[in-house]
Amino acid sequence: MNTLRLVVGLLMTVVMLGLAGRRLLYLYRVGGAGQPVEPGRLGAVGTAIRAELVEVVAQRKLLRWTAPGLAHAAVFWGFCVLLLTVLEAFGSLFDPTFSLPVIGQFPVLGFVEDLFALLCILAVVAFVVIRVREAPRDQGRRSRFFGSHLGPAWFVLFMIFNVVWTLLLTRGAQINAQEVNTTDNLPFLRGAFLSQAIASLLAPLGQDVNEVIETVALLVGLGVLLGFTVFVTYSKHLHILLSLPNVALARRPSALGALLPVSSGGREVDFEDPGEEDLLGVGNVEEFTWKGLLDFGTCTECGRCQSQCPAWNTGKPLSPKLLIMGLRDHALAKAPYLLAAEQERDGLSDDARAVASVPLVGDTGYAGDPLAAYAPLGPGGVIDPDVLWSCTTCGACVEQCPVDIEHVDHIVDMRRYQVLMEGAFPDEAGAMLNNLEHAADPWGRGASQRLAWAEPLDFEVRVLGADGGDRIPDDVEWLFWVGCAGALDDQAQRTTRAVATLLHEAGVEFMVLGEAESCTGDPARRMGNEFLFQMLARQNVQTLDDAGATKIVVTCAHCFNTIANEYPQVGGSYEVVHHSMLLGRLLAEKRLVPVSRVDRDVTYHDPCYLGRHNRIFAPPRELLGAVPGLRLAEMPRAKERAFCCGAGGARMFMDETLGTRINENRAAEAIATGAQTIAAACPFCITMLSDGVSTLRPDDAPVEVTDIAEVLLRAVRPDLDDVSPPPQAARP
Ligand code: SF4
Ligand code: SF4
Repeated sequence: MNTLRLVVGLLMTVVMLGLAGRRLLYLYRVGGAGQPVEPGRLGAVGTAIRAELVEVVAQRKLLRWTAPGLAHAAVFWGFCVLLLTVLEAFGSLFDPTFSLPVIGQFPVLGFVEDLFALLCILAVVAFVVIRVREAPRDQGRRSRFFGSHLGPAWFVLFMIFNVVWTLLLTRGAQINAQEVNTTDNLPFLRGAFLSQAIASLLAPLGQDVNEVIETVALLVGLGVLLGFTVFVTYSKHLHILLSLPNVALARRPSALGALLPVSSGGREVDFEDPGEEDLLGVGNVEEFTWKGLLDFGTCTECGRCQSQCPAWNTGKPLSPKLLIMGLRDHALAKAPYLLAAEQERDGLSDDARAVASVPLVGDTGYAGDPLAAYAPLGPGGVIDPDVLWSCTTCGACVEQCPVDIEHVDHIVDMRRYQVLMEGAFPDEAGAMLNNLEHAADPWGRGASQRLAWAEPLDFEVRVLGADGGDRIPDDVEWLFWVGCAGALDDQAQRTTRAVATLLHEAGVEFMVLGEAESCTGDPARRMGNEFLFQMLARQNVQTLDDAGATKIVVTCAHCFNTIANEYPQVGGSYEVVHHSMLLGRLLAEKRLVPVSRVDRDVTYHDPCYLGRHNRIFAPPRELLGAVPGLRLAEMPRAKERAFCCGAGGARMFMDETLGTRINENRAAEAIATGAQTIAAACPFCITMLSDGVSTLRPDDAPVEVTDIAEVLLRAVRPDLDDVSPPPQAARP
């Protein structure tokens, strides 16, 4: 019997691990078809180890969702502990009384192993409940599992259950067969409380029968485990293996904030002198880096990203989950072509050659069915253009993804190819790009309008060059970067005046660039027009450097992100603060003193590019908290989970014709708090939310949408109503 189980056990192991190994080797070769990673991605070993400890071992992101997070943690930690039982099982193939060296002498080991086996079973039950309650069959696209492969997910739960019960049965029979409780055999099993309970049930069958049960259960258990291992390499549960390298190699501190520069062949493209062979963006799946392909293979199909995506939640075809799954399935379908030598490709099947020619972005003819907007096998395109252009780059997907997939980078890389190589983008965005190119602002108003905002002020705003000098004087502490909206949008001008007035009130010497300021390039870059971004960014950096700027305050979340995080990529490094941070400092230093109550219920909307992209959650709230009488009511989706206003990713300048409107969704949530004031800290958010509020409450009691600085100004200078006249309907 012992010889038989050794032979069968080893045979199964060799065959199954051989199958799994062959598959992993194949996947490794598929990954190798990708481009080299960009400079700086590899090498930070300490950061990678910390990320593994925080994201994988401590399950940080998973535990944000309490019930599924705890269930996943129980299975993850359970399987880590149960690896010891796998070693014990293999040991017992050779010696039925095998126990692990040193720790195998202690009953506590058996207790811990059984405890985690129990936790695994409870977690499986929890997963079953979650999957039944959130079934796409009942919830439709509201379910985060909509579009996921449901059959394999159920099969994996079944396999986890099988692994655990066969383990417990083996150990229960082993206790009787090897006389654990009356000899020195297998000391750790004396503490294995569940196995002991099963042993009590099996004891009446006698030692010989228990020996047979032990052998059969051991072989079945090993078979299930090894079969599970093979299945994992063919399914979305590949994440069990791939999440470790994917998390280790992810961008740190996160793939939010700055976009990556365009890179080709592992080096950054020089946009002042691009090489003829340089890849500008991604037009074929093999033009993603191998880290991108690793991202696609690591997706667990958990749908956390999908559940938070503003595009998906307002009926658009974009789901970050379906996007990643579609790219993965396309990469695997194209793999035979990619791995074949040039001269072998003509000999491939028609299907293999057909899939190789499917464009990454093309008309899928999805006709309202979101699943049909993803066609990994073509023929029209792997993803529909409506998928690509629906993204607001809000980062909610990246924020939620438990395995650190970098959706926004991949989306922008595909946009770059569409814009730079194909000249394909939504028509209405063309006007914005044209305006940026010729007038350096998205509306084409031109530099001469950039100081109009300051005219109503009763003090003089210092402007670079106005006194003949071309450098910022020594007595000026802050350069106030006004931004295109802040200078040219009627409503945003009110914020600009409020901030200028507060700085003046606090005695802060500041200066503006006036006509020398251009758009930072944010909308061009997020549209994919890297040429235009580079042009605007280099021009601004030159202006800032020539002026000797070192400390910059901005009121726009997009300007903040671009100047602070992206200008270093083109040689401009400055201390950049958002006005919420600077005004907060002035309040703390008592240079600004609220003297009047603002008796209002206020809710605060986190701009994506201030909150999620730059982790600035507290300063705006602290600023509002310093206003006497103000009552802050949080929206259900706040801070990391804040819902986008719909303006990011250059969506501000595109028509929103699909589904419902993102800004109305967010405005409805804000109105539902009962607040009289919706405060934000970005001019684009304010525009979008104002539009949303006026659509939802055209005749009702007005809910105002305003910047946090205007709220503070009312407390500091209640006499200055004329600084912030009521919003005007017309905007540029
Ligand atoms: S960045 Fe925002 S809009 Fe784009 S896919 Fe992610 S969650 Fe959706
Ligand atoms: S991309 Fe990340 S969050 Fe989205 S389904 Fe895949 S693993 Fe889950």
